[in-house]
Amino acid sequence: MQLDDLYRRVIMDHYKTPRNKGTFEEDAVTINLNNPTCGDRITLQLKLEDGIVRDAKYSGDGCSISMSSASMMTAAVKGKTFEEAQDLAARFSALMKGEDVQFDEYEDIEALSGVNKFPARIKCATLAWNALRKGIDDQNK
Ligand code: ZN
Repeated sequence: MQLDDLYRRVIMDHYKTPRNKGTFEEDAVTINLNNPTCGDRITLQLKLEDGIVRDAKYSGDGCSISMSSASMMTAAVKGKTFEEAQDLAARFSALMKGEDVQFDEYEDIEALSGVNKFPARIKCATLAWNALRKGIDDQNK
């Protein structure tokens, strides 16, 4: 129960004090995704260069799970290679399946582990990560 409380606090912190919220003025890879079951919308912008995620920002709105997940994802992915970013996204999928996954590079993400118990909310949590995958996949084509 205490653990749940701690997790909830981390999630609300990212929701109320979002990291990397906004848009780039310069050109950036832009991905729009939404989750109609909840009404979450995200626009993810990525600065991709030489196989590295140089920078990331997001905008949009939605529930605390979707927005905090976007905040955590953008914070975690900066400076990562495409491969490392895809690995993060894959581990996040595993976390949503209830697997015991660690995120040593950005522990806040583990606060979303409880979401796997609420199947309707998993799409909220994965929205930003799906946008990240799509942005990188499109570059690799
Ligand atoms: Zn949602």
